[in-house]
Amino acid sequence: MSIKNNIERLKESLPVECSLIAVSKTQPVDKIQEAYNAGQRIFGENKAQELAQKYEVMPRDIQWHMIGHLQSNKVKYIAPFVQLIHSVDSLKLLVEINKQALKNNRKINCLLQIHIADEETKFGFSEAEVMELLQANELKILTNIKITGLMGMATLTEDVDKIRTEFKTLKSLFEKIKLMNIPSVEMKELSMGMSNDYKIAIEEGSTLIRVGTAIFGERN
Ligand SMILES: *Cc1c(COP(=O)(O)O)cnc(C)c1O
Repeated sequence: MSIKNNIERLKESLPVECSLIAVSKTQPVDKIQEAYNAGQRIFGENKAQELAQKYEVMPRDIQWHMIGHLQSNKVKYIAPFVQLIHSVDSLKLLVEINKQALKNNRKINCLLQIHIADEETKFGFSEAEVMELLQANELKILTNIKITGLMGMATLTEDVDKIRTEFKTLKSLFEKIKLMNIPSVEMKELSMGMSNDYKIAIEEGSTLIRVGTAIFGERN
């Protein structure tokens, strides 16, 4: 299957409220260009410098999303142009994103990453931690960021019920926060689902699926 075919097939299966992010980490620019030529305009990367390098050489109408763990000292590389940061996992990082957004005279949209998987290695807030963050006074002064939703990664497993339960947990937290009506927080994006579990994620209410392998093939 070609990149073009993969993208077309994926897009056909998406409900209108869900968008496809092509995860192009480690992929060379000619592969990204192939996806672009097939009509894809949203791309996700997990390393700030790689993202910035690709931004420089690729067409300007691409929306670049940061999906991987982001260190505070790397925010400056992507702050001038990044469309959405999916992987915010600390108040410290939000403070730095706000600072860099201010420097660039922009407002940067952010998702809070929630730890829903069993695996220890995955980053993200627990439910209790995210509730604490959302009620923190410090959040109110961060006028150059906007929290627009949540992101989560399910456990890497064949157990479909387990994956579904984890996505349901994230969706219910999303709905709970929505009901809190916090001024600078708008729960509109729910980023969940990757190549192996995006179908389940869509059924559970995902608005952004992050798909790499099912578009570009296995990464080296
Ligand atoms: C790599 C990555 C993806 C895409 O994974 P695939 O299994 O290749 O679809 C999605 N989200 C995050 C955060 C990633 O790092």
